[in-house]
Amino acid sequence: MLAIKGDEEMEREERRPVFFERFIPEEQGILGGRTFYELEGGYVKRIHIPFCDVCGRELSRDNRFLCSRCRKKVCAECVTKVEGRYVCLECVERMYPVGGEIGYRILVSIHKGIDNLRKLNKLIPEGAEPYLRRLKARGFILEKGLMRRRYCITALGVLAISAFSKFYDDELDPQYL
Ligand SMILES: [Zn+2]
Ligand SMILES: [Zn+2]
Repeated sequence: MLAIKGDEEMEREERRPVFFERFIPEEQGILGGRTFYELEGGYVKRIHIPFCDVCGRELSRDNRFLCSRCRKKVCAECVTKVEGRYVCLECVERMYPVGGEIGYRILVSIHKGIDNLRKLNKLIPEGAEPYLRRLKARGFILEKGLMRRRYCITALGVLAISAFSKFYDDELDPQYL
């Protein structure tokens, strides 16, 4: 931000004409701004346009966030709050490797009490079992019951649900940030 201000001041002071304006996409992690390079008798102005580093959407001034973990710049759709800090979808996926949206749906179903394989397989046409193995191995769910396997959610599983709900739960208002 300070650099942008400096450029503006420079432009005012020099009172030299700007010859061209170039629009270029800004690098990852940088919010954009303007830079100038000198040409004989004037300047070329480069306008760096920031795009969401996750989905590629153009970022406006009031729709941009920095992920507190990876420092990517992201739009409101690709960011959530985890423990009061902005975290992008990619970092949430690294923090809670539940197996993407299907893993998340299974986790929510178990949380709601749909706790056996037969019922879960009805919900997941591709088959719930590989997802259940993954969720169990990563500590998001526990298996119980000797005769008939049933699943229950762990504290980590509850944390994962709340971190992903902004992205995957259509019923939640995305404006809650
Ligand atoms: Zn985005
Ligand atoms: Zn991130």
